[in-house]
Amino acid sequence: MKQLLNRSARVVLDALLPPTCAACGTEVMTEGAFCGTCFQAAHRIVSPSCHRCGVPLENEGLGGTQNCCAACDAHPPVWRSARAAFVYDARSRRLILPLKYSDHTENAAVLARQMASAGEGLLKDVTVVVPVPLYRTRLWKRRYNQAALMAQGVSRLAGLPCVVDALQRVRSTRALARLSAGEREQEMEHAVRVRKGRGVRIEGQAVLLVDDVLTTGSTATACTKALMKAGAASVDILVAARTGRVDEQNPRFVQE
Ligand SMILES: [Zn+2]
Ligand SMILES: [Zn+2]
Repeated sequence: MKQLLNRSARVVLDALLPPTCAACGTEVMTEGAFCGTCFQAAHRIVSPSCHRCGVPLENEGLGGTQNCCAACDAHPPVWRSARAAFVYDARSRRLILPLKYSDHTENAAVLARQMASAGEGLLKDVTVVVPVPLYRTRLWKRRYNQAALMAQGVSRLAGLPCVVDALQRVRSTRALARLSAGEREQEMEHAVRVRKGRGVRIEGQAVLLVDDVLTTGSTATACTKALMKAGAASVDILVAARTGRVDEQNPRFVQE
């Protein structure tokens, strides 16, 4: 009840007060927008980027003719290709974290627009949009899945169906941030599956998997495997931001 009152109070206040940038609090023209400074500060990924994992490439030549980074060349990901709107760093974090931790759900639409534009090439090749799932208890605590909000935004913009609950986390995974790549993979294995009854919406489809951040790719790998197991024809990844790889060829994009 208290929460409900807080919420209605916020709705009333929001109607009275001018909208502010979700990242820094400066006044902005429209609700859910970021101010120009915060928005322009974020490092947009423009071509050339690795078509397999979305990491920005320093120049066309580095990717060779395949436009593929050295890491993907050595260990190709299980998904078909990936695109990211921003490099995940201190600047883009300011755009993404308010959505993740402080109820700024209106940001999802803003980020979805950036993602749809970064993933323009992918959107022509997919038939259904699916978000990376949150574990139940985490969903209750946060009340929404930020990846689902982004997936819905992208699906609306692209005119594609979105199966919001296609994937399910079958068990809680430890916070992945501190684990090594190998430990992450182990932690995620069998942690995701296609929800009972949703297989028919996945079978034969070219799936676009949506998440907020692509880091080592262990979550995206687990989701891709689950989708392929359910008969998906292909899986592509679209994220708001991509962490830089610790890549000798590409020291500029080393994760902060
Ligand atoms: Zn701002
Ligand atoms: Zn790559």
